[in-house]
Amino acid sequence: MSRKRYAVIGGGINGLSVARQLLLDNPDASVTVFEKEEAVAQHQSSHNSGVVHAGLYYEPGGLKARLCRRGVELVRNYCADNAIPYDECGKVVVALEQDELPRLDAIYKKSLANGVPGVRLVDHGELREIEPNCIGIRALHSPHTAIVSYGQIAQRIAREIEEKGGTIRLNAPVSRLIERGAQIHVELDSGEVHPEHFDYAIACSGLQSDRLAQRSGDEATPRIVPFFGQYYVIDEAFKAHVKGLIYPVPDPRFPFLGVHFTKRIDGQMTIGPNAFISMGRENYDGSRFSLRDVADFLSYPGFWKFASRNISATLRELKTVLSESVFVREAARYVPTLADVGVTPAVRGIRAQAMQNDGALVDDFVIRRQGNITHIRNAPSPGATSSMAIAEYIVREVLPRQ
Ligand SMILES: Cc1cc2nc3c(=O)[nH]c(=O)nc-3n(C[C@H](O)[C@H](O)[C@H](O)COP(=O)(O)OP(=O)(O)OC[C@H]3O[C@@H](n4cnc5c(N)ncnc54)[C@H](O)[C@@H]3O)c2cc1C
Repeated sequence: MSRKRYAVIGGGINGLSVARQLLLDNPDASVTVFEKEEAVAQHQSSHNSGVVHAGLYYEPGGLKARLCRRGVELVRNYCADNAIPYDECGKVVVALEQDELPRLDAIYKKSLANGVPGVRLVDHGELREIEPNCIGIRALHSPHTAIVSYGQIAQRIAREIEEKGGTIRLNAPVSRLIERGAQIHVELDSGEVHPEHFDYAIACSGLQSDRLAQRSGDEATPRIVPFFGQYYVIDEAFKAHVKGLIYPVPDPRFPFLGVHFTKRIDGQMTIGPNAFISMGRENYDGSRFSLRDVADFLSYPGFWKFASRNISATLRELKTVLSESVFVREAARYVPTLADVGVTPAVRGIRAQAMQNDGALVDDFVIRRQGNITHIRNAPSPGATSSMAIAEYIVREVLPRQ
């Protein structure tokens, strides 16, 4: 059998995991990763909450539910095998008000259907044993929810790809993939066409995924609309007030979760992220306005439909964008001892959130094959938790499909 050649576009945790999986399953394959930045994992994969989600919220039977559970196992084992810190600090989803209880119950049922281990509903007293400073009338406790550094995992995978004979081409922005007969050609922004041609290409380009897909002949929708998430680090002296992860019960009126507490693997305690439209897909400090990125969402009918349906959510998030104290106040509803805590802004994350033409946010992962090119069109959270399972799915189920 001839040696298969694969191009993977994007050196985030998904692209790297796909490249690794290709080499694990086909040790003789030629695998080249094209990454536009000068280092791997410079975007979502290193700007996230670092949570290894257990699979509480996802629709049973969907890709998210399935790949998240498998992803947890793979990430946990990878960290153990590679001496990468992995902390099962646990998570509580906390109801403050009676009207949240049916929704908390629904999450509990979903988590059981998804096979999440150890989940329990706990009362006020037990919640205080788990998180002594957290108030709430009832909570869902997920003891195995964990934290890691996905940036660190991605760096390790990149080294492993090279150890296994794969190639990572940095500073190589791909303009489009061209499929001619059985060959795929990779054209770079410079106009150069990579000298080698490929049998398969897998595009894992995160915030740019819709653009690369469309330029390569895939459908125009769903489109990526970037939503940033701001985090604040709480004062060192207060960080022991929270032991693990404290989340609100999701409110169906709002498309994003709301401010929560996230412990970091480096020991910091953060609050956030909020969610607000980003004036650039890669605008991490908030100062670089990208005309092209803004024009893209403003000219997308889906964005206006989304905006008109989510005015109250937008106002809620806007308050947390404009005022640090509102942000802290939101969090202190769960941990009142932090009402006056000092905070320092941390670097934002920007979500590659796919949106349909009708304004609906795409919830599940979208992985689509067109000819011999496969595109990840939507991989929001828990996309990092699921990355190695997404890779298995693409390599073992999507690519062999003819
Ligand atoms: C604020 C926030 C919090 C999150 N929290 C969590 C969490 O706690 N747990 C969890 O599981 N998930 C979380 N996620 C989601 C998770 O971070 C993503 O699902 C995951 O990182 C996606 O990885 P990726 O490789 O697909 O994308 P990315 O990491 O964005 O990588 C895409 C790569 O493609 C490259 N690229 C783009 N276009 C081109 C091109 N044309 N040519 C070459 N290279 C290109 C980019 O430079 C980049 O390196 C969070 C995301 C955000 C934004």
